[in-house]
Amino acid sequence: MTILLHQLWPLSHNPEVTFPKTDPPADRPAERPARMESREVRELRELKNAQPDLATAADMQIELLGAQRRVQARVPLPSATFDQRKPDHLLCRPALQFKDIPIDWSDFRLMIRQTADILRRFDTLEAADYDRIQGLARDGQIEAVVASWYDTAVGPAHRHTVRSPERELIDQVLLLSMRPFLARCAEALLPRLELSDWQHPCCPLCGGEPEFAFITPGAERLLVCGRCTGQWRFDPITCPYCENKDRSRITSFTSRDGRYRIYACDECRRYLKAFDGRDGSRPVLLGVDSIATLPLDAAAIQRGYQS
Ligand SMILES: [Zn+2]
Ligand SMILES: [Zn+2]
Repeated sequence: MTILLHQLWPLSHNPEVTFPKTDPPADRPAERPARMESREVRELRELKNAQPDLATAADMQIELLGAQRRVQARVPLPSATFDQRKPDHLLCRPALQFKDIPIDWSDFRLMIRQTADILRRFDTLEAADYDRIQGLARDGQIEAVVASWYDTAVGPAHRHTVRSPERELIDQVLLLSMRPFLARCAEALLPRLELSDWQHPCCPLCGGEPEFAFITPGAERLLVCGRCTGQWRFDPITCPYCENKDRSRITSFTSRDGRYRIYACDECRRYLKAFDGRDGSRPVLLGVDSIATLPLDAAAIQRGYQS
């Protein structure tokens, strides 16, 4: 997702942008997961008003979230046999196997087509890439393509794989198209997993990499999976990409209002963004926070780090 969003916030923008503080009303009711999307859309509209420079990215995100929500509402509960499973913490093996994900393939093809349409409309896809992705939606081997994408993103070996820009783009589109199915699994299954032993930087449910982090009111750090959006606890300093634990080799900086933080690793040169929720104002909202922090991405990239 990030590589696509970067095109909506070119590096020519001045990254030293202030983040206006938009405190939620004190009487806002507690969230239920099913309402999370509409809250994200509401917050994205507020973000557009507060920071017009982010309006295009916010509009694209609102459309992507809408497509995801419509499909996710139709995804059935995942396999009932799941509750005997737990992630194998010794082998860093996530709990959810590909065959357990309840994918309706016509809905999945619809997600690919709609995702490509939205990205093209917002000029984040070239015509040739658009055609290639539409071709993917028609591919008779799509199940094998997705199974391979799901399984190869798992495990430490993946972190050192260098992928071509074309492959990277296809992977991003597969990620967005799989999200309704994986987010449904995370919603239903993650609360049932025993995670006290899980100390790995990959998602205990689907094996995905973290895309964001949340600093809780208790000052713990949760990682947010870039594939299923599930969250799990991880060491507050260690780099989740190379597991560098040397605090002096982690550069940390915040947005001007202190709401967001970047942990940039001087070993592997990758960075992770976090929403600082220590004031208890709200949970992390991946769809909103990934847009609100585009100026921070630009600042990190200008300092030579990669997402
Ligand atoms: Zn996951
Ligand atoms: Zn690192």
